[in-house]
Amino acid sequence: MSATTETATALPRLPDGPRQLLIDGDFVDAADGATMPCYNPATGEIQTQVAVAGAEDVDRAVRVARHAFEEGPWRDFTPSARARVLWRLADLIEEHTDELALTESLDNGKPLAEARGDLGFAAEVFRYYAGAATRIDGRTVTPSLPGPWHAYTRREPLGVVGQIIPWNFPLMIASWKIAPALATGNTVVLKPAEQTPLSALRLGELFLEAGLPAGVLNVLNGVGSVTGAAIAAHDGVDKVAFTGSAETGRQILKAAMGNLKKVSLELGGKSPNIVFSDANLEAATSTAAAAIFSHMGEVCIAGSRLYVQHDVFDDVVNGVADAARSLRIGAGVVPDTQIGPLVSDEQLRRVTGYIDHALANGARALAGGGRRGDRGYFVEPTVLVDVEPNARVVREEIFGPVLVARPFEDPAELAREANDTRYGLAAGVWTSDLAKAHRVAAELRAGMVFVNTWGAIDPTLPFGGYKESGWGRELGPDALDLYTETKTVVVAL
Ligand code: NAP
Ligand code: MG
Repeated sequence: MSATTETATALPRLPDGPRQLLIDGDFVDAADGATMPCYNPATGEIQTQVAVAGAEDVDRAVRVARHAFEEGPWRDFTPSARARVLWRLADLIEEHTDELALTESLDNGKPLAEARGDLGFAAEVFRYYAGAATRIDGRTVTPSLPGPWHAYTRREPLGVVGQIIPWNFPLMIASWKIAPALATGNTVVLKPAEQTPLSALRLGELFLEAGLPAGVLNVLNGVGSVTGAAIAAHDGVDKVAFTGSAETGRQILKAAMGNLKKVSLELGGKSPNIVFSDANLEAATSTAAAAIFSHMGEVCIAGSRLYVQHDVFDDVVNGVADAARSLRIGAGVVPDTQIGPLVSDEQLRRVTGYIDHALANGARALAGGGRRGDRGYFVEPTVLVDVEPNARVVREEIFGPVLVARPFEDPAELAREANDTRYGLAAGVWTSDLAKAHRVAAELRAGMVFVNTWGAIDPTLPFGGYKESGWGRELGPDALDLYTETKTVVVAL
């Protein structure tokens, strides 16, 4: 019984934390007592049970959030007091990084180092919006109507905000949603993804510790078709903010029609990453690999379509394939893991289904090509070539570690092919010719263009998509628009 064997087998266990619903400052069971299992994606085993909110719980949480908005102590919080809560919460996230990262890694599957990165970013998002809370000002306006006037605008919170989030960055996307909503004085009903509810529930607990009044943030784990649908349809909800698939985005829009609640959507992508032969090819190659393989490719801005100028195509694509093969696959909580399992059995089947379909239709895998092992939801980092522009793997969001690569000859044709997608979230351009970089950046129909980099996101930089990639922009000052109404006040003097 050597120490090495013991450490090799004794992987860390899931930290304790809330497993019930957070409503009105208390953790409570669902009204009907329903629970569901949470799986460890590295083993497929059940690691805990979590309460599942039904329509009755949603209704209660919405009424609680309404009361907190209209009558609770929250409405008397000055902007500075709101800022202090958000700042304190950011500190608490950092104080609990080890525990939160472990929870996130065991729930989602991602490597611990990536989970820590997500948490660091989440803390910075809370700090950014802590700073914004005291800067939500209107303007004075000078009308040209006859007579003397005093006219001004006010920015006011919307009220009760429903937020529905996915499983790929559970705590980080929660921060993008919650921080601007609270900075502007709204109250929130948050539904995490059923696959990854644990960090959001713990975040709710930390918010209480940070001094957020009861009922201002309610966290309801549950199933999209029940809990999510009830939030999106509820007449007591003033706005719904959603991140996830375009398909679910459409259902949310339909559900929101009843009371015409405001809607913002951050949906998927099929983002083109373009490498010209005059680029720094070493940097372009290693970053192209990171753009699709980090977080197992379960990233809305994944660089999932690689377009390389034909004279350097083989070099770049072989380099990406080498990088794919060198990545260490394993459970996220094993310290040197670079690629964890996909989040769920469903996602494993989706992703391998896309790969199988491509291989059966003439594509060639330069690296990877399928599932790894028969336990857990591991998929090999895969690089596909010989794919036609209309192939499913080129057109549809796979949301896994699967890259499709195509050569291009005519740069003028290139932008057309890169834009030939329903989506428009991100794009990348690699070149040492800055004039060309700006020209191509202007031609690309995408909400974010990365030049000689990929995935450079920051709380200051607006994030969101063109076309079917969504409505509205998160992060930056833009997100404050998602959570405020503008009121115009006109005074005849
Ligand atoms: P999804 O269905 O869009 O799930 C996102 C969130 O919406 C989850 O909390 C989900 O609940 C909830 N939801 C589902 N149906 C709903 C409904 N009718 N009304 C209200 N809320 C609802 O995504 P998914 O099923 O997890 O993944 C499917 C595909 O979506 C992925 O393969 C990927 O292509 C894409 N995706 C994109 C992003 C992104 O960041 N853009 C994130 C995740 C997934 P449940 O947890 O119960 O499903
Ligand atoms: Mg779904």
